Amino acid sequence: MTIRGSCVCGAVAFEIAGAPSAMGTCHCARCRKLGTSTFVFVTRQQFRLVRGEERLVTLEPTARYGYHRSFCGCCGTSLGEPLSPEGAFPINAQCLDDDPGIRNGMHEFLADRPAWAASAELGRDGRGGGAD
Ligand SMILES: [Zn+2]
Ligand SMILES: [Zn+2]
Repeated sequence: MTIRGSCVCGAVAFEIAGAPSAMGTCHCARCRKLGTSTFVFVTRQQFRLVRGEERLVTLEPTARYGYHRSFCGCCGTSLGEPLSPEGAFPINAQCLDDDPGIRNGMHEFLADRPAWAASAELGRDGRGGGAD
């Protein structure tokens, strides 16, 4: 199974070989503003940039944030960490063109959500309402 993904304008495209290990949503202020709140976690071995590496623009981490984020320099789509030096890293699930075969099982930094987002994102069943 190959899962394809791309930015809005198509300049950047990638492939994930096999299912990602996990999917999760980060509710921290940085992820919210970057528009990269739901990720799939992939390994270096299963991830391949098909095109557009030269188009990537990278935000370096500051203060409490440990990881960089990359964007398409043409359309601004937030891609996650495709240039990560780590063996495993997050990729923006919202960029996927195919179903990754897994579902969202994790919510982080729920306490950082603004009041307007609290009810809309998680629905009424209380899923994900646990600790940060
Ligand atoms: Zn683009
Ligand atoms: Zn975050």
